[in-house]
Amino acid sequence: MEMNPAATSPPPPATVHVDLDGAREIYEGHGWGYPHADDPIFESGLRNFLDFLASNGVRATLFVIARSVRDPRRRALLEAAVEQGHEIASHSLNHRYLTRIDAQGKHEEIGESRRLLERELGVEVHGFRAPGYRIDHESLGILADCGYRYDSSAFPTSRYATALRSSVEQLRRPHRPLPGRELVEWPMPDHRPLPLPFNPSYSLLLGPWLFRSGAARFRRGGRPLTLLFHLIDLADPLGAERLRGVSSRLFTLSTMSAARKRERCQAMLDQVRGAFRIVRTLDAIAEWQGANAAPGTAKTASPLLASAAARGPGR
Ligand SMILES: [Zn+2]
Repeated sequence: MEMNPAATSPPPPATVHVDLDGAREIYEGHGWGYPHADDPIFESGLRNFLDFLASNGVRATLFVIARSVRDPRRRALLEAAVEQGHEIASHSLNHRYLTRIDAQGKHEEIGESRRLLERELGVEVHGFRAPGYRIDHESLGILADCGYRYDSSAFPTSRYATALRSSVEQLRRPHRPLPGRELVEWPMPDHRPLPLPFNPSYSLLLGPWLFRSGAARFRRGGRPLTLLFHLIDLADPLGAERLRGVSSRLFTLSTMSAARKRERCQAMLDQVRGAFRIVRTLDAIAEWQGANAAPGTAKTASPLLASAAARGPGR
């Protein structure tokens, strides 16, 4: 579908997302086990992010692993985030990879995470990102059944196109992945021709050139950008007693001081701000829906989301 040229003349929107994976999830993801009760990556990372976002006047979407609300230290920080007007979205219940579990497990991770976050934090949850970006077609249907408005998990690659019964071209833009359903897929950034996402984490590891060139290339495409941070991007480095060799230092970005990381993240945010309009995810989706009414429905099909955006935190 061609965009109206008049609608593409202002800079495209950029949404700022933060995935709230702590050391526990990173360690579990690598099969290392995490025997500690507290989680300095989550705690210092979210504290530093709230400060970074406030000082930049940005309201972000935070993708929360819902079991986090059961930990008093994590919960206190999440309540502060809600208070500060950030959108809460789901990053599953227990961070299990959806592509490795059956339909019942998917229902738990997708449906129960939404109920838990809404009940415990007193917010409406509209968005979802799959752990490890491992989304599949069945999970999209469950997301729609569970009342989510959008998913943001898919990269525009042939592997995703096959798994989601879509096409690479469709995956490069916001779209409705399920015929006849309102669920929107808000795309992850296209990083081709590089093999790595140009998100801040990789750029912090490999150098500012990765993000600079990726964002500039992306801007030329004129599509909305998802700027996806992770807690490790601003967290204090883990102490030596928690590390398990070189790979744990790399995967938690404990290679660099928090102050140095913040400087680098600031430069990345400034670059995005110079080339895109930073808007909240629900507003960006409502804007896109206004221009792309669902097939067979009038444009008035989307006031539900538009009103959700208007009611959302910070308004
Ligand atoms: Zn994750």
